[in-house]
Amino acid sequence: MSFIIPCYPPDYKTLSVGISNLKCSYPFLRTGILGRSLCLRKIYSLRLGRAENPVLITAGFHAQEWITSLVLLRFIERVCQAAQKRNTLCGIDVGGALNRREVIFIPCINPDGTEIALKGSCTAGKYRNFVEKISNKDLSHWNANARGVDINHNFNAGWQISRKLENEAGITGPSPRRFGGAAPESEPETQALTNLCRNRCPRTAIALHSQGEEIFYEYGKYTPERGLHLAKIFSASSGYTLVQNAGIYSHAGFKDWFIEEFHSPAFTFELGKGKNPLPLSEFDSIYSKVEEMLILACIM
Ligand SMILES: [Zn+2]
Repeated sequence: MSFIIPCYPPDYKTLSVGISNLKCSYPFLRTGILGRSLCLRKIYSLRLGRAENPVLITAGFHAQEWITSLVLLRFIERVCQAAQKRNTLCGIDVGGALNRREVIFIPCINPDGTEIALKGSCTAGKYRNFVEKISNKDLSHWNANARGVDINHNFNAGWQISRKLENEAGITGPSPRRFGGAAPESEPETQALTNLCRNRCPRTAIALHSQGEEIFYEYGKYTPERGLHLAKIFSASSGYTLVQNAGIYSHAGFKDWFIEEFHSPAFTFELGKGKNPLPLSEFDSIYSKVEEMLILACIM
């Protein structure tokens, strides 16, 4: 089977052209711009179906985890193919289901960081020197946005606790990873996502990260019961392990904020297993393990 989205590291041009080509082939796919990154790159949204309280699936928070963007784009394309041909996907009539459900996809919430990781500091515009300084010109661990803020430590849920844990880990300012910013929601990429959620109140939110083949599903006392039920279904579908928050990654993430703010289910899916960035040679096996889980997330 051939695909519009190439199995290639999704730099910004590949992402933009791919989304435009998807839209041409599947006119029912509604594309939009959720916001702009620090370097003014577009944060794309793609929408299928129409209904109140959509399901939201996001990827590309961490620059070294660009394979998550590729997995989400492949999934969008497979859903579009099935809907257009009225085929089932994993035995499910996804086209029919989307008559009564909207799904919003954000393939890359951190386009600057992804570009820096894939193509170097020269892509960081006015932040170029800053990126080189705080990374010591070693971008192999770069996960942040263009000014060294880790988007997934920048949400307003236990942010002060997260800051304390960062300090204890020796991270006291902008850094290639793990620095939560000057204040919660200080970054335009974070704001793009929180604005969308406040406007649309998704029924469920999913953030794709890598790696570990794990599912995070809880945050404090507001974790809804439906979150645990869904997590068990997702785990049964994918074989991924359910895990609870622990340590420096336990606060200020998108999933944490979403649960605390809306008391609705949110999940982090840690795709694949190995060392980030996971190689493209792993893509097919990663994708095949999670496709049914992503379909279930859309329809449940
Ligand atoms: Zn991540």
